[in-house]
Amino acid sequence: MHTIEHWIAGGAAASTSASAPRTAPVYDPATGREQARVLLAETADVDAAVSAAATAYDSWRDSSLSQRMRVMFAFRELLARHEDELARLVSAQHGKVVSDARGEIVRGREVVEYACGIADALKGGYSDQYSRGVDVLSFREPLGVCAGITPFNFPAMVPLWMHPIAIATGNTFVLKPSERDPSASNLIAQLYADAGLPDGVFNVVHGDRTAVDAILDHPGISAVSFVGSTPVATYVHERATAAGKRVQALGGAKNHAVVLPDADLDYASDQLVAAAYGSAGERCMAISVAVAVGDAAEPLVEVLRRKARAVRVGPGDDPASEMGPLVTRAAQERVEGAVAAAAAQGATVVVDGRDLKVAGHEEGFFTGPTLLDHVTAAMDAYRTEIFGPVLAVVRVDTLDEAIALINANPYGNGTALFTGDGAAARRFQRGVHVGMVGINVPVPVPMAAYSFGGWKDSLIGDSPVHGPEGVRFYTRPKVVTTRWPAGGNPAARGAAFAFPTAN
Ligand code: NAD
Repeated sequence: MHTIEHWIAGGAAASTSASAPRTAPVYDPATGREQARVLLAETADVDAAVSAAATAYDSWRDSSLSQRMRVMFAFRELLARHEDELARLVSAQHGKVVSDARGEIVRGREVVEYACGIADALKGGYSDQYSRGVDVLSFREPLGVCAGITPFNFPAMVPLWMHPIAIATGNTFVLKPSERDPSASNLIAQLYADAGLPDGVFNVVHGDRTAVDAILDHPGISAVSFVGSTPVATYVHERATAAGKRVQALGGAKNHAVVLPDADLDYASDQLVAAAYGSAGERCMAISVAVAVGDAAEPLVEVLRRKARAVRVGPGDDPASEMGPLVTRAAQERVEGAVAAAAAQGATVVVDGRDLKVAGHEEGFFTGPTLLDHVTAAMDAYRTEIFGPVLAVVRVDTLDEAIALINANPYGNGTALFTGDGAAARRFQRGVHVGMVGINVPVPVPMAAYSFGGWKDSLIGDSPVHGPEGVRFYTRPKVVTTRWPAGGNPAARGAAFAFPTAN
């Protein structure tokens, strides 16, 4: 069986462990079969990656902006050229359909395109003659070795939110991707090498909690970017900040889409089924709650019932499939358990995906689109992130009630409103306590020149990712105050013991 290795100092790297290294299975979720093993790093493997990144930093920090942008342009071209290969790799280990995997690669590539213009984002400030004979300039410097710890659900895009910005701003990087679908990261590492990125600037260590803890505690790492579930985001934030690192930590979600009675129901329901069941609901911006306002409820549930049943579920590499399997058997059991609990707590199971069988793939981790109605805020199906193809309908009477529901939820990642009423839309976008808002847009992932980040339990700490916030996160400001006594203010000569002020 093929073993997926680390990528350190410009090439594949075996385990440093003297005894048999620890490994974990990587499945083909469509068949349920193990397709490879992935190395699980020990602390010594993380040390080796950090050491390679620290060595590379000595020269990469002095690379010119032009050189970094040339590498990013070349990397961007290679990502485009290898889009099909990368999408198939993502699909084969994650389970999502290939067209959906392409979407995540394109959205990740857009971050690289932003990084291609890093010279603009890194322009500093300059004030001539702030005081007489004194000029002030400011610029931002890289931090050093940065690390990324990423989730299984976007094995290409989420790491691409991080490393292009970190590298373009002059840092070096150690990525610890999800052990469930690790191979995309190794292909990305190869593409960076082919783009001319010097060895050691981008490294990959595969692993589990042992690798994560080694990163969080490592004195050679300056900053940690994390995306994953809220409990782990909280843990990462606490432990890494205690170790003196800068941390961005994005967590889980429960995203509501509000449907007003005046909404175009055909449009809204198409958008809702795609946002709830696309990628089998394994998106942090998936819509998992449809909030039906007033008279919208009955017709909405009816049309959702029809469209949920029509979703074509099958293996990710079948072009006819619209939705693939869940990532693991454990994920499937968890999702189906949540549906059973919802029924026991009084929700109506309108469409039950637990019945689904995909011919020829009986051992695959498939759960079909599931629609729950009459869900209340007290039920577990509402309160917890199910992270599967389950859409819960909550019925309310007014838009204000919908906004209050959203604001009482501990998560605040994304939300959407479907309406033709501009005034209602404005009230919604100003009133919700959520970081990313869509108006007739169900999955409002910000474009690359903006930054991605939720509020409340969806983002621990205060730093969103990519765009201007990403540049800020991976750099620190320096301000230089300059006086040239020979050509400046003659009055500045002589020792002045009072605290200096401008004149
Ligand atoms: P996860 O939290 O289980 O794992 C994320 C990363 O942390 C992985 O690399 C994993 O190896 C590591 N990890 C897991 N358990 C750990 C532990 N106990 N200690 C230390 N490290 C640990 O998340 P997942 O299941 O891979 O991904 C799904 C979750 O990610 C969902 O909650 C989803 O909402 C969230 N997510 C959030 C965003 C966002 O932008 N807010 C984006 C994508 C995914």
